[in-house]
Amino acid sequence: MEKKVPYKIYLSENEIPTQWYNVRADMKNKPAPLINPGTHQPLTKEDLDPIFCSELNAQELDNETRFFDIPEEIQEFYKMYRPSPLVRAYFLEKALGTPAKIYYKFEGNNTSGSHKLNSAIAQAYYAKKQGLKGVTTETGAGQWGTALSMACSYFDLDLKVYMVKCSYEQKPFRREVMRTYGADVTPSPSNTTQVGRKILSEHPESTGSLGCAISEAVEAAVTNEGYRYVLGSVLNQVLLHQTIIGQEAQAALRKYDIKPDIIIGCAGGGSNLGGLATPFIGEMLRGEADYKIIAVEPASCPSFTRGKFAYDFADTGMICPLAKMYTLGSQFIPSANHAGGLRYHGMSPILSQLYADGLFEARSVEQTAVFDAAVQFARVEGILPAPESSHAIRAAIDEALKCKETGEEKTILFGLTGTGYFDLKAYEQYNNGTMDDIIPSDDLIASYLEKLPKVEE
Ligand SMILES: *Cc1c(COP(=O)(O)O)cnc(C)c1O
Repeated sequence: MEKKVPYKIYLSENEIPTQWYNVRADMKNKPAPLINPGTHQPLTKEDLDPIFCSELNAQELDNETRFFDIPEEIQEFYKMYRPSPLVRAYFLEKALGTPAKIYYKFEGNNTSGSHKLNSAIAQAYYAKKQGLKGVTTETGAGQWGTALSMACSYFDLDLKVYMVKCSYEQKPFRREVMRTYGADVTPSPSNTTQVGRKILSEHPESTGSLGCAISEAVEAAVTNEGYRYVLGSVLNQVLLHQTIIGQEAQAALRKYDIKPDIIIGCAGGGSNLGGLATPFIGEMLRGEADYKIIAVEPASCPSFTRGKFAYDFADTGMICPLAKMYTLGSQFIPSANHAGGLRYHGMSPILSQLYADGLFEARSVEQTAVFDAAVQFARVEGILPAPESSHAIRAAIDEALKCKETGEEKTILFGLTGTGYFDLKAYEQYNNGTMDDIIPSDDLIASYLEKLPKVEE
């Protein structure tokens, strides 16, 4: 007899996975390597070691090891806020009147309010183990900086955060959380780095950009003895750490013999989608199961649906390595959009290869439709979702409504990556009816794609 599924499926502490899953081991077509922008040669560990932490570089370059043991100290930290609940959205199903069964994996139950802590704690651990004094990073909307400040304070590491100046001014609360955890937060562009001083001398009124903050953080890492630079998404190592999400979801679903038909995640740099979906994609690659997987991105920054699969700079400042990925061009600046975490021109190289190989589909959604879904969800399920996460909610609701039409009882699983308490300006606009959707024209996108670096493959 079918067991009644509870509202929340919790795993016990000893059921939290103890390894991260590396989908590259199961991929026939491996993601293309990062290459040096000058020589176009693949980057080696020796090239990467002066900038990034050594053990993380080993993970970054490893296409063969299927599982990495999660170090015990990280497992201990995970117990502070994991396992994260897998929730059956009974209230949402009822509100929609759908025969679909909807589940979401909620990653917002920690102070940083998002899944980013899963990788932040791993990156801080390896930095500490290497004997470093500290790390540097950039943050835009602030979720990553907040998560990393928690992780660094836990391991007693110094942290220098370059925060995009307009966010620094507009999101003083996130800034204060970071400072409370001991991080040194500098609005970018700043006069603490050469690249920052150069930008300020040319554009004294600059309110900053993610690309500029990355350039400052990298410079701060390579010019300060005992520091390295860390990044919160896109990289292979970040997807690896985030697989704790998908593996926990698998373990919880197994308890009730549930097999999802559709798996949905929002996609900015690809870390939460990769973390949730690659353990399932691994089953597909090994021929064990089949799922429909959907990446959801903003219509204002549609890397998968309208970008090109090509080598491009990872940053606007064009100092970082080239990565082969779905990109809108490193100079593409998406229009102001409230899902700050989804405003990145590129995409994870692992997900890009899997998408090119047809393992999942992608769709873009408009901002007001996303907030319609966010509000509908908040009112029935109780959680105030982050705008980024609400992209996944939108697609989950759309799929559930399709089931209502066809009468199919599909099982839908989506990633609810975080909470939206720092995004109330966005909710205010929505509630006031002043939110708009700015979608780039084909000509605009083409003009940026024309400028992609020329790389022979
Ligand atoms: C950063 C962030 C995202 C997007 O980043 P990915 O690397 O694509 O996962 C999504 N949701 C929240 C809440 C975030 O903070």
